[in-house]
Amino acid sequence: MDAGIASARKDRGRVRILDTTLRDGEQTPGISLTPEQKMSIATMLDDLGVDTIEAGFPITSAGEQEAAKMIASSGFSAKVTCLARAEKGDIEKAIDCGVSGIHIFMSSSDIHLREQFRISREEMTEKVAEAVGFAKAHGLEIEFSAMDATRTETEHITEIANVVRDAGATMFDIADTVGICTPDRMKELVRDVSAAHIDVSVHCHNDFGLAVANSIAAAEAGASQVHATMTGIGERAGNTSLEEFVMAAQMLYGFSTGIRTGMLAEACRFVSGITGFPVPPNKPIVGRNAFGHKSGIHTQGIMENPLTYEPFDPGIVGRGRWLQAGKHSGRHGIAAQLRELNISLGARELGWVVRRVKERGDSGKTTSTEELMQLALASRQTMAGGVIASDGGT
Ligand code: MN
Repeated sequence: MDAGIASARKDRGRVRILDTTLRDGEQTPGISLTPEQKMSIATMLDDLGVDTIEAGFPITSAGEQEAAKMIASSGFSAKVTCLARAEKGDIEKAIDCGVSGIHIFMSSSDIHLREQFRISREEMTEKVAEAVGFAKAHGLEIEFSAMDATRTETEHITEIANVVRDAGATMFDIADTVGICTPDRMKELVRDVSAAHIDVSVHCHNDFGLAVANSIAAAEAGASQVHATMTGIGERAGNTSLEEFVMAAQMLYGFSTGIRTGMLAEACRFVSGITGFPVPPNKPIVGRNAFGHKSGIHTQGIMENPLTYEPFDPGIVGRGRWLQAGKHSGRHGIAAQLRELNISLGARELGWVVRRVKERGDSGKTTSTEELMQLALASRQTMAGGVIASDGGT
Protein backbone atom coordinates (compact mmCIF):
# COMPACT_ATOMS: atom_id res chain seq x y z
CA MET A 1 0.00 0.00 0.00
CA ASP A 2 1.17 3.51 -0.79
CA ALA A 3 2.78 5.09 2.25
CA GLY A 4 1.60 8.51 1.07
CA ILE A 5 -2.01 7.43 1.10
CA ALA A 6 -1.69 5.30 4.21
CA SER A 7 -0.46 8.30 6.20
CA ALA A 8 -3.70 10.13 5.39
CA ARG A 9 -5.90 7.29 6.63
CA LYS A 10 -7.90 7.26 9.81
CA ASP A 11 -10.35 4.70 10.99
CA ARG A 12 -13.66 6.38 10.33
CA GLY A 13 -15.93 3.38 10.52
CA ARG A 14 -18.17 1.54 8.12
CA VAL A 15 -20.35 3.05 5.38
CA ARG A 16 -23.14 0.87 4.04
CA ILE A 17 -23.69 0.61 0.30
CA LEU A 18 -27.17 0.44 -1.19
CA ASP A 19 -26.69 -0.52 -4.82
CA THR A 20 -29.34 0.90 -7.12
CA THR A 21 -27.91 -0.33 -10.44
CA LEU A 22 -31.09 -2.35 -10.94
CA ARG A 23 -33.40 0.61 -10.23
CA ASP A 24 -31.88 4.04 -10.89
CA GLY A 25 -29.21 2.42 -13.09
CA GLU A 26 -31.92 0.95 -15.25
CA GLN A 27 -33.41 4.45 -15.59
CA THR A 28 -30.40 5.30 -17.78
CA PRO A 29 -31.67 6.26 -21.24
CA GLY A 30 -31.00 3.27 -23.47
CA ILE A 31 -30.92 0.58 -20.75
CA SER A 32 -33.65 -1.99 -20.20
CA LEU A 33 -33.17 -5.32 -18.46
CA THR A 34 -35.06 -8.61 -18.44
CA PRO A 35 -35.81 -10.30 -15.09
CA GLU A 36 -33.09 -12.88 -15.83
CA GLN A 37 -30.54 -10.17 -16.56
CA LYS A 38 -31.48 -8.40 -13.33
CA MET A 39 -31.09 -11.64 -11.44
CA SER A 40 -27.60 -12.23 -12.83
CA ILE A 41 -26.52 -8.70 -11.89
CA ALA A 42 -28.02 -9.14 -8.40
CA THR A 43 -26.03 -12.35 -7.93
CA MET A 44 -22.84 -10.51 -8.86
CA LEU A 45 -23.71 -7.60 -6.52
CA ASP A 46 -24.21 -10.01 -3.66
CA ASP A 47 -20.80 -11.60 -4.34
CA LEU A 48 -19.28 -8.12 -4.52
CA GLY A 49 -20.52 -7.45 -0.99
CA VAL A 50 -23.07 -4.64 -1.27
CA ASP A 51 -25.21 -4.27 1.86
CA THR A 52 -28.53 -3.73 0.09
CA ILE A 53 -29.72 -4.45 -3.44
CA GLU A 54 -32.51 -2.24 -4.74
CA ALA A 55 -34.17 -4.72 -7.07
CA GLY A 56 -36.52 -2.41 -8.92
CA PHE A 57 -39.82 -0.53 -8.88
CA PRO A 58 -42.48 -3.30 -8.81
CA ILE A 59 -45.56 -1.18 -9.56
CA THR A 60 -44.14 -0.23 -12.98
CA SER A 61 -44.29 -3.62 -14.75
CA ALA A 62 -44.84 -7.35 -14.49
CA GLY A 63 -41.17 -7.94 -15.32
CA GLU A 64 -40.10 -5.69 -12.45
CA GLN A 65 -42.25 -7.74 -10.08
CA GLU A 66 -40.86 -11.00 -11.41
CA ALA A 67 -37.28 -9.76 -11.02
CA ALA A 68 -37.90 -8.51 -7.48
CA LYS A 69 -39.49 -11.84 -6.51
CA MET A 70 -36.56 -13.83 -7.88
CA ILE A 71 -33.99 -11.62 -6.19
CA ALA A 72 -35.87 -11.52 -2.86
CA SER A 73 -36.13 -15.30 -2.71
CA SER A 74 -32.49 -16.05 -3.58
CA GLY A 75 -31.12 -16.18 -0.06
CA PHE A 76 -28.53 -13.48 -0.69
CA SER A 77 -26.44 -12.07 2.15
CA ALA A 78 -27.44 -8.60 0.95
CA LYS A 79 -30.77 -7.17 2.01
CA VAL A 80 -33.23 -6.73 -0.83
CA THR A 81 -35.42 -3.67 -1.12
CA CYS A 82 -37.53 -2.09 -3.82
CA LEU A 83 -38.96 1.28 -4.64
CA ALA A 84 -42.50 2.45 -3.96
CA ARG A 85 -44.30 5.77 -4.08
CA ALA A 86 -46.13 6.78 -0.92
CA GLU A 87 -49.16 4.87 -2.20
CA LYS A 88 -50.78 1.75 -0.76
CA GLY A 89 -50.92 0.08 -4.18
CA ASP A 90 -47.17 0.48 -4.68
CA ILE A 91 -46.41 -0.84 -1.21
CA GLU A 92 -48.71 -3.83 -1.65
CA LYS A 93 -46.96 -4.75 -4.90
CA ALA A 94 -43.63 -4.68 -3.08
CA ILE A 95 -45.00 -6.84 -0.27
CA ASP A 96 -46.19 -9.34 -2.91
CA CYS A 97 -42.60 -9.61 -4.14
CA GLY A 98 -41.45 -10.87 -0.75
CA VAL A 99 -38.82 -8.21 -0.10
CA SER A 100 -37.80 -7.52 3.50
CA GLY A 101 -37.25 -3.82 2.93
CA ILE A 102 -38.99 -1.04 1.13
CA HIS A 103 -37.78 2.30 -0.17
CA ILE A 104 -40.69 4.73 -0.10
CA PHE A 105 -40.20 8.09 -1.73
CA MET A 106 -42.00 11.34 -2.16
CA SER A 107 -40.98 14.78 -3.33
CA SER A 108 -40.29 17.30 -0.61
CA SER A 109 -39.31 20.47 -2.48
CA ASP A 110 -41.80 23.26 -3.03
CA ILE A 111 -41.11 23.26 -6.77
CA HIS A 112 -42.10 19.58 -7.02
CA LEU A 113 -45.06 19.85 -4.64
CA ARG A 114 -46.43 22.98 -6.30
CA GLU A 115 -45.62 22.42 -9.97
CA GLN A 116 -45.91 18.66 -10.33
CA PHE A 117 -47.98 17.15 -7.53
CA ARG A 118 -50.09 20.19 -6.62
CA ILE A 119 -50.29 19.45 -2.93
CA SER A 120 -49.26 21.42 0.15
CA ARG A 121 -46.41 20.54 2.51
CA GLU A 122 -49.00 19.48 5.10
CA GLU A 123 -50.76 17.14 2.67
CA MET A 124 -47.38 15.71 1.72
CA THR A 125 -46.35 14.90 5.30
CA GLU A 126 -49.76 13.35 6.05
CA LYS A 127 -49.53 11.12 2.98
CA VAL A 128 -45.99 10.06 3.86
CA ALA A 129 -46.87 9.25 7.48
CA GLU A 130 -49.76 7.10 6.30
CA ALA A 131 -47.66 5.21 3.73
CA VAL A 132 -44.79 4.55 6.13
CA GLY A 133 -47.25 3.42 8.80
CA PHE A 134 -48.88 1.03 6.32
CA ALA A 135 -45.51 -0.52 5.38
CA LYS A 136 -44.53 -0.75 9.04
CA ALA A 137 -47.75 -2.60 9.86
CA HIS A 138 -46.68 -5.20 7.28
CA GLY A 139 -43.33 -5.70 8.99
CA LEU A 140 -41.12 -4.09 6.36
CA GLU A 141 -37.83 -2.36 7.09
CA ILE A 142 -38.41 1.15 5.78
CA GLU A 143 -36.13 3.68 4.16
CA PHE A 144 -37.81 6.94 3.24
CA SER A 145 -36.39 9.15 0.49
CA ALA A 146 -37.23 12.80 0.27
CA MET A 147 -37.03 13.38 -3.47
CA ASP A 148 -35.37 16.70 -4.39
CA ALA A 149 -34.38 17.03 -0.73
CA THR A 150 -31.45 19.28 -1.59
CA ARG A 151 -33.85 21.93 -2.93
CA THR A 152 -36.11 21.68 0.09
CA GLU A 153 -36.07 24.12 3.01
CA THR A 154 -34.22 22.62 5.95
CA GLU A 155 -37.21 23.22 8.22
CA HIS A 156 -39.42 21.04 6.02
CA ILE A 157 -36.80 18.32 5.63
CA THR A 158 -36.29 17.95 9.36
CA GLU A 159 -40.04 17.92 9.90
CA ILE A 160 -40.41 15.05 7.40
CA ALA A 161 -37.55 13.20 9.08
CA ASN A 162 -39.37 13.41 12.41
CA VAL A 163 -42.67 12.33 10.84
CA VAL A 164 -41.27 9.24 9.09
CA ARG A 165 -39.22 8.23 12.13
CA ASP A 166 -42.36 8.35 14.29
CA ALA A 167 -44.24 6.33 11.66
CA GLY A 168 -41.59 3.58 11.73
CA ALA A 169 -38.92 4.37 9.11
CA THR A 170 -35.37 3.56 10.22
CA MET A 171 -33.45 5.30 7.44
CA PHE A 172 -33.94 8.76 5.95
CA ASP A 173 -32.47 9.25 2.51
CA ILE A 174 -31.50 12.69 1.28
CA ALA A 175 -31.96 12.57 -2.49
CA ASP A 176 -30.00 15.10 -4.52
CA THR A 177 -32.37 14.37 -7.37
CA VAL A 178 -31.08 16.98 -9.81
CA GLY A 179 -27.46 16.82 -8.69
CA ILE A 180 -27.14 20.43 -7.51
CA CYS A 181 -25.74 19.88 -4.04
CA THR A 182 -22.20 20.80 -2.98
CA PRO A 183 -20.11 18.95 -0.39
CA ASP A 184 -20.42 21.74 2.22
CA ARG A 185 -24.19 21.95 1.82
CA MET A 186 -24.50 18.16 1.96
CA LYS A 187 -22.66 18.07 5.28
CA GLU A 188 -25.07 20.64 6.74
CA LEU A 189 -28.09 18.71 5.52
CA VAL A 190 -26.84 15.40 6.91
CA ARG A 191 -26.24 17.03 10.30
CA ASP A 192 -29.68 18.68 10.29
CA VAL A 193 -31.46 15.42 9.47
CA SER A 194 -29.36 13.41 11.93
CA ALA A 195 -30.69 15.67 14.68
CA ALA A 196 -34.02 13.86 14.16
CA HIS A 197 -32.33 10.70 15.51
CA ILE A 198 -32.73 8.61 12.40
CA ASP A 199 -30.03 6.95 10.29
CA VAL A 200 -29.15 9.02 7.23
CA SER A 201 -28.49 7.87 3.69
CA VAL A 202 -27.73 9.91 0.56
CA HIS A 203 -28.66 9.44 -3.07
CA CYS A 204 -26.58 11.68 -5.29
CA HIS A 205 -26.74 12.49 -8.98
CA ASN A 206 -23.77 13.49 -11.05
CA ASP A 207 -25.08 16.45 -13.06
CA PHE A 208 -22.10 18.60 -12.02
CA GLY A 209 -19.68 15.70 -11.54
CA LEU A 210 -20.03 16.00 -7.75
CA ALA A 211 -21.92 12.80 -6.91
CA VAL A 212 -18.94 11.00 -5.38
CA ALA A 213 -17.69 14.15 -3.58
CA ASN A 214 -21.16 14.80 -2.14
CA SER A 215 -21.48 11.17 -1.03
CA ILE A 216 -18.09 11.32 0.69
CA ALA A 217 -19.05 14.60 2.37
CA ALA A 218 -22.25 12.95 3.62
CA ALA A 219 -20.27 10.07 5.10
CA GLU A 220 -17.91 12.53 6.79
CA ALA A 221 -20.90 14.27 8.35
CA GLY A 222 -22.23 10.97 9.71
CA ALA A 223 -24.40 9.43 6.98
CA SER A 224 -24.37 5.67 7.47
CA GLN A 225 -25.35 4.69 3.92
CA VAL A 226 -24.68 5.79 0.35
CA HIS A 227 -26.67 4.88 -2.75
CA ALA A 228 -24.47 3.99 -5.72
CA THR A 229 -24.51 2.23 -9.08
CA MET A 230 -21.88 0.25 -10.95
CA THR A 231 -19.90 2.68 -13.14
CA GLY A 232 -22.30 5.46 -12.07
CA ILE A 233 -25.12 4.65 -14.50
CA GLY A 234 -28.50 6.23 -13.78
CA GLU A 235 -30.96 8.93 -14.75
CA ARG A 236 -29.35 11.74 -16.87
CA ALA A 237 -25.67 12.08 -15.92
CA GLY A 238 -26.02 9.15 -13.55
CA ASN A 239 -25.51 8.41 -9.87
CA THR A 240 -22.58 8.02 -7.50
CA SER A 241 -20.18 5.47 -9.03
CA LEU A 242 -19.92 2.56 -6.64
CA GLU A 243 -16.32 1.77 -7.55
CA GLU A 244 -15.16 5.40 -7.29
CA PHE A 245 -16.94 5.98 -4.00
CA VAL A 246 -15.64 2.77 -2.44
CA MET A 247 -12.01 3.33 -3.42
CA ALA A 248 -11.97 7.02 -2.44
CA ALA A 249 -13.82 6.37 0.83
CA GLN A 250 -11.44 3.56 1.76
CA MET A 251 -8.12 4.80 0.45
CA LEU A 252 -8.34 8.56 0.91
CA TYR A 253 -10.77 8.99 3.80
CA GLY A 254 -10.29 5.90 5.97
CA PHE A 255 -13.86 4.55 5.81
CA SER A 256 -14.51 0.86 5.37
CA THR A 257 -17.15 -0.84 3.24
CA GLY A 258 -18.06 -4.48 2.79
CA ILE A 259 -17.00 -4.42 -0.86
CA ARG A 260 -14.54 -7.03 -2.17
CA THR A 261 -12.48 -4.50 -4.10
CA GLY A 262 -10.60 -7.18 -6.03
CA MET A 263 -13.86 -7.89 -7.87
CA LEU A 264 -14.58 -4.29 -8.92
CA ALA A 265 -13.07 -4.38 -12.41
CA GLU A 266 -14.73 -7.66 -13.30
CA ALA A 267 -18.07 -6.59 -11.81
CA CYS A 268 -18.16 -3.35 -13.81
CA ARG A 269 -17.27 -5.21 -17.03
CA PHE A 270 -20.03 -7.68 -16.26
CA VAL A 271 -22.67 -4.97 -15.81
CA SER A 272 -21.47 -3.13 -18.90
CA GLY A 273 -21.70 -6.36 -20.90
CA ILE A 274 -25.29 -6.95 -19.84
CA THR A 275 -26.55 -3.37 -20.10
CA GLY A 276 -24.64 -2.66 -23.31
CA PHE A 277 -23.64 0.65 -21.73
CA PRO A 278 -19.94 1.25 -22.39
CA VAL A 279 -17.43 2.17 -19.71
CA PRO A 280 -15.62 5.34 -20.88
CA PRO A 281 -11.87 4.67 -21.27
CA ASN A 282 -10.95 7.48 -18.90
CA LYS A 283 -13.36 6.36 -16.16
CA PRO A 284 -11.55 6.28 -12.78
CA ILE A 285 -10.78 2.83 -11.35
CA VAL A 286 -12.36 0.73 -14.11
CA GLY A 287 -11.82 2.61 -17.39
CA ARG A 288 -9.38 1.10 -19.88
CA ASN A 289 -6.87 3.91 -19.34
CA ALA A 290 -7.11 4.12 -15.54
CA PHE A 291 -3.85 2.17 -15.17
CA GLY A 292 -2.39 2.75 -18.64
CA HIS A 293 0.82 4.73 -19.05
CA LYS A 294 2.07 6.46 -22.15
CA SER A 295 4.58 9.25 -21.55
CA GLY A 296 8.25 8.31 -21.38
CA ILE A 297 8.76 10.00 -18.02
CA HIS A 298 5.85 8.10 -16.49
CA THR A 299 6.72 4.71 -17.96
CA GLN A 300 10.32 5.04 -16.79
CA GLY A 301 9.10 5.88 -13.27
CA ILE A 302 6.62 3.00 -13.32
CA MET A 303 9.46 0.60 -14.06
CA GLU A 304 11.48 1.87 -11.10
CA ASN A 305 8.48 1.76 -8.75
CA PRO A 306 4.85 1.74 -9.93
CA LEU A 307 3.77 4.03 -7.09
CA THR A 308 5.69 6.88 -8.73
CA TYR A 309 2.76 7.33 -11.14
CA GLU A 310 -0.07 5.20 -9.79
CA PRO A 311 -2.29 6.11 -6.83
CA PHE A 312 -2.45 2.46 -5.76
CA ASP A 313 -1.62 -1.01 -7.03
CA PRO A 314 -4.17 -1.88 -9.76
CA GLY A 315 -4.28 -5.43 -8.37
CA ILE A 316 -6.36 -4.06 -5.47
CA VAL A 317 -9.28 -3.59 -7.88
CA GLY A 318 -8.50 -6.67 -9.94
CA ARG A 319 -6.57 -4.97 -12.71
CA GLY A 320 -3.11 -4.81 -14.19
CA ARG A 321 -1.15 -1.85 -15.56
CA TRP A 322 -0.22 -1.47 -19.20
CA LEU A 323 2.02 0.76 -21.22
CA GLN A 324 1.33 2.28 -24.60
CA ALA A 325 3.94 3.37 -27.05
CA GLY A 326 3.50 6.87 -28.44
CA LYS A 327 5.46 9.98 -29.27
CA HIS A 328 5.99 10.66 -25.56
CA SER A 329 7.51 7.20 -25.06
CA GLY A 330 11.17 6.73 -24.32
CA ARG A 331 13.57 3.83 -24.79
CA HIS A 332 12.84 2.49 -21.29
CA GLY A 333 9.11 2.26 -21.81
CA ILE A 334 9.28 0.69 -25.23
CA ALA A 335 11.94 -1.80 -24.11
CA ALA A 336 9.72 -2.74 -21.17
CA GLN A 337 6.70 -3.25 -23.41
CA LEU A 338 8.76 -5.41 -25.74
CA ARG A 339 10.06 -7.45 -22.81
CA GLU A 340 6.45 -8.20 -21.84
CA LEU A 341 6.04 -9.54 -25.39
CA ASN A 342 9.22 -11.61 -24.91
CA ILE A 343 11.05 -9.50 -27.47
CA SER A 344 14.55 -8.32 -26.69
CA LEU A 345 16.18 -5.90 -29.14
CA GLY A 346 19.73 -4.64 -29.45
CA ALA A 347 20.39 -0.96 -28.78
CA ARG A 348 20.33 0.03 -32.46
CA GLU A 349 17.13 -1.87 -33.22
CA LEU A 350 15.50 -0.37 -30.16
CA GLY A 351 16.56 3.12 -31.25
CA TRP A 352 15.04 2.49 -34.68
CA VAL A 353 11.72 1.34 -33.16
CA VAL A 354 11.59 4.37 -30.83
CA ARG A 355 12.09 6.73 -33.77
CA ARG A 356 9.35 5.03 -35.80
CA VAL A 357 6.94 5.21 -32.84
CA LYS A 358 7.65 8.95 -32.47
CA GLU A 359 7.21 9.56 -36.20
CA ARG A 360 3.88 7.77 -36.08
CA GLY A 361 2.88 9.89 -33.06
CA ASP A 362 3.78 13.11 -34.86
CA SER A 363 1.54 12.07 -37.73
CA GLY A 364 -1.36 11.53 -35.32
CA LYS A 365 -1.10 7.76 -34.85
CA THR A 366 -0.78 5.73 -31.68
CA THR A 367 1.01 2.40 -31.74
CA SER A 368 -0.85 -0.68 -30.59
CA THR A 369 0.85 -3.72 -29.11
CA GLU A 370 0.39 -5.51 -32.42
CA GLU A 371 1.97 -2.64 -34.35
CA LEU A 372 4.83 -2.48 -31.88
CA MET A 373 5.55 -6.16 -32.47
CA GLN A 374 5.58 -5.55 -36.21
CA LEU A 375 7.97 -2.62 -35.78
CA ALA A 376 10.27 -4.80 -33.67
CA LEU A 377 10.38 -7.45 -36.40
CA ALA A 378 10.92 -4.77 -39.05
CA SER A 379 13.79 -3.33 -37.02
CA ARG A 380 15.65 -6.62 -37.15
CA GLN A 381 15.11 -6.98 -40.90
CA THR A 382 16.11 -3.39 -41.48
CA MET A 383 19.30 -3.71 -39.46
CA ALA A 384 20.16 -7.04 -41.02
CA GLY A 385 19.59 -5.59 -44.49
CA GLY A 386 21.95 -2.72 -43.90
CA VAL A 387 19.31 -0.04 -44.24
CA ILE A 388 20.75 1.42 -41.07
CA ALA A 389 22.96 3.73 -43.11
CA SER A 390 19.98 5.66 -44.42
CA ASP A 391 18.51 5.73 -40.95
CA GLY A 392 21.64 7.07 -39.28
CA GLY A 393 21.59 10.44 -37.66
CA THR A 394 17.84 10.79 -37.43
MN1 MN B 1 -32.20 9.01 -8.63
